[in-house]
Amino acid sequence: MTQDEEHATRLDAADELARFRDEFHLGAGIYLDGNSLGLLSHRAERTLSEAVTSWRERGIDGWTAEDHPWFYLPEEVGAMTAPLVGAAPDEVVATGGTTVNVHQILATFFRPDGNQTKILATELDFPSDIQALTSQLRLRGLDPDKHLIRVTSRDGRTIDEEDVVAAMTDDVALVFLPTVLYRSGQLLDVERLTRVAHERGIPIGFDAAHSVGVAPHSFSDWGVDFAVWCGYKYLNGGPGAAAGLYVNRRHFGRRPGLAGWFGSRKDRQFDMDHDLIPAESAGAYQIGTPNILSLAPLLGSLEMFDEAGIGRVREKSLNLTGYLIDLVDEYLSGMGFAIGTPREEKRRGGHVALEHPDAARICMALKAKGVVPDFRPPDVIRLAPAPLYTSYHDVWRAVEILRRIVGEGQHEKYPNERGVVA
Ligand SMILES: *Cc1c(COP(=O)(O)O)cnc(C)c1O
Repeated sequence: MTQDEEHATRLDAADELARFRDEFHLGAGIYLDGNSLGLLSHRAERTLSEAVTSWRERGIDGWTAEDHPWFYLPEEVGAMTAPLVGAAPDEVVATGGTTVNVHQILATFFRPDGNQTKILATELDFPSDIQALTSQLRLRGLDPDKHLIRVTSRDGRTIDEEDVVAAMTDDVALVFLPTVLYRSGQLLDVERLTRVAHERGIPIGFDAAHSVGVAPHSFSDWGVDFAVWCGYKYLNGGPGAAAGLYVNRRHFGRRPGLAGWFGSRKDRQFDMDHDLIPAESAGAYQIGTPNILSLAPLLGSLEMFDEAGIGRVREKSLNLTGYLIDLVDEYLSGMGFAIGTPREEKRRGGHVALEHPDAARICMALKAKGVVPDFRPPDVIRLAPAPLYTSYHDVWRAVEILRRIVGEGQHEKYPNERGVVA
């Protein structure tokens, strides 16, 4: 064992969260894609299997079972998620999918009025979010070319908060931004952006898909109006898991833009009245019958976040990504790599964007060696060490494998997809 490898094992020995690693199905290799699809834990597997048992044994009575009744599961899982976003239990519900929830938020909170007709986003946003914003504008008869403002990036990687602030002009009706940029991993200053938007009378919300489960938030204290995020990324809820929706309580009672009977007050839902009486909670923004089997794994998974504490998760995350950046500087210098993620801790989310002109083939070579990254064209290798199951030794080994691959030109035998992408 080299000195560096010994150092990695010492970091693992001192890691307070190390015990959670054994709770996951880790597979044979090194999994660094937890920001796209988190791994399955034994606890999530157990709560999923309990939901299946409830269906098998109770049939329709599963909706009202004593233990985790399905009727309240979106609210129950929402309340368990609330500490991760810094909200009250009734300000969060687990429902739908992220893109669907963006539609619900826009349908509810985008109120073009007079001169105030524009939506503010960024040019580095995730495509699905922009597609949702664009279609919402079209639904109101507004031309997205004129009414969707995308703040431009100065360096192609990050968004300068100053530029967002400058774009919050009096024709903006709503601001919708990522907390963490999906490609570079930049963490925006959510508190400041919210304060400025509100000074200018503009409602503001966030897509927190790349921060929930890896960084803390204080949505209620900061006064954020609404937010959405995925259940299947850092929350490890499984493919297509129920997504998250936060609505600040000052908006409770606002009629959902996309209405359906599951947004009803619980005690009135089975009155079967044609008029919706919306719940006085984030639950009002649900639409139809919850996907119980996509909610159930989150019960087990979120228990682990409760035990670990999001503060400790963030601390380990920053240590892991900081360690990864240090190793890249040390092991991979002169090989054509660049770090696309801000180095300051307060501007860094949970993953590191490693840039290289041969990123696509390097990713293929990594996968062949059992390291799972993901590739974002044209030149980004995203590496996400998930704090609950990634060790420092995993990070060390991944960089060591990268050094060998590129040092020995092993990636050159793979086709260069960049030509196709460009
Ligand atoms: C992952 C991700 C999505 C995915 O949305 P789905 O509706 O779950 O497919 C949307 N937006 C952002 C910012 C994401 O990171």
